[in-house]
Formats: sequence, structure tokens, C-alpha cells
Amino acid sequence: MAPLEWVPLDFRYRFRCADDDCPTHDMALKDWEAGASYRKFLRKYGERAVHDKLRERWYDSMFTPDRAVHFFVGNIAAHPKTFMLLGIFYPKVNIVQYAQDGLFTL
Ligand SMILES: [Zn+2]
Repeated sequence: MAPLEWVPLDFRYRFRCADDDCPTHDMALKDWEAGASYRKFLRKYGERAVHDKLRERWYDSMFTPDRAVHFFVGNIAAHPKTFMLLGIFYPKVNIVQYAQDGLFTL
């Protein structure tokens, strides 16, 4: 069994949600795939390029005008008021337009 490789980066997103009075959020992303892409990009592109490649993968390719970005948010029992990002869903905008309006709306 290979030892777990430490990821020395903190993936964070600062954003405003759909609430008109949103004061802006700053949350850490805890998706395992982010750490896995760090390890992969470090091996593939080296120390000098890893930050640029991560930004391309985890920001530039997702936050585009034709994407509807959604965050999956969660917390832990020890800190019930502190939320973190568990995952990112970024389908094409035209796909979301045909989705239902709300969770309990048919
Ligand atoms: Zn907000």
C-alpha cells in the first residue's frame, strides 16, 4: 500500500451566491479530486507549472459564460455552522435551463 501523499495547497473559492444581500463567501474545497489532480499535475508538468494547470482545471474551464456552476456544500458535526465545498457541478447553461425549478417543484 502506497503512503498518502500530502497536498500542500488549500483550494479556496470566493464567490457571491444568488442572494441579493450576499456578503460574499470564502470556502475551502474538500473534493478528493482536487488533491488527486495536484499530484497528477505535479508529476506531469512539474513544480513550476502545477499552479497554472490547477487554475486552468479548477477555475478557467469551469467558470465560463456557458457554464452554470453549482457548489455542493456540507459541514461536520463538530462545526455545524462552518460550511465547506464538497464538490463542484458545472453543466452547460442550456442543459440547466430545462431542469426543474426547485427540489420540490415538478
Ligand atoms: Zn451568499
